[in-house]
Amino acid sequence: MKYKTFLQGIAGWQGIREMPWNRPFKMSVCLYIIDGLLIDTGPYSLGSESIRFFNENTIQQVALTHLHEDHSGMAAWLQEKSNLPVYLHAGSIAEAAIEPELEKYRMEIWGRRPAFKAQSIPEQIITDKYRFEVIDTPGHCRYHKAFLEPDQGWLFAGDLLVNIKPKSVYWEENMSEMINSLEKICALGFEVVFCSHTGILKNGKEICQQKLNYLLDLREKVQELRNKGLEDGDIDQRLFPEEDIASTLTNGDFSSYSIVCTI
Ligand SMILES: [Zn+2]
Repeated sequence: MKYKTFLQGIAGWQGIREMPWNRPFKMSVCLYIIDGLLIDTGPYSLGSESIRFFNENTIQQVALTHLHEDHSGMAAWLQEKSNLPVYLHAGSIAEAAIEPELEKYRMEIWGRRPAFKAQSIPEQIITDKYRFEVIDTPGHCRYHKAFLEPDQGWLFAGDLLVNIKPKSVYWEENMSEMINSLEKICALGFEVVFCSHTGILKNGKEICQQKLNYLLDLREKVQELRNKGLEDGDIDQRLFPEEDIASTLTNGDFSSYSIVCTI
């Protein structure tokens, strides 16, 4: 609720998921409702809290940045309750219609992702007051969208900017695609970024550029070491020598190696 007064007309909600693993692990989820448009639904595991937020606000349509369960876990509930249109990248619609069998650690953090019936996201989403351009931004996953309100200078970035200097990424992430998406986004006119996990970033453009610079620098280092004949595994050890906690917690689903071999 702390965002409520930041920007008029935007209702914000933040939920925190704490995991009592071998090391305490905490993650935030931020949801936004703008003029009847809900962007992402949050996970099933925070449903008992987010339902209050949904009930307190008018929601006419739902747009998902991507299908990961921390963004789409409550889509089925919202659809069942109010028969709302849920927009999603066309490439993910078939997958959304089936409840996935998630890895144990994902279930523990985010919970189920019940099946729902998504509609292909249009190129623009129109509300009474605003117009959102829907932008392809693969990298975090293959089918990822960001939403730009050009007149307001708002960018709803999904998971594009969650981690500004990633040292470990999920196996399906692709850093070359991430670089392309960041280059595309950096060229757009916006100021404020609404991130799905870190909240509202007033210097959003700068952060976007920082992440792009970090990855371009990393790409150069990887390229240099490849030119010297090193394999990606050796490059990984040289550039990321410290212990990878994310990798340990996820049985290797997250790794720095995934950064090196996709950059
Ligand atoms: Zn995600």
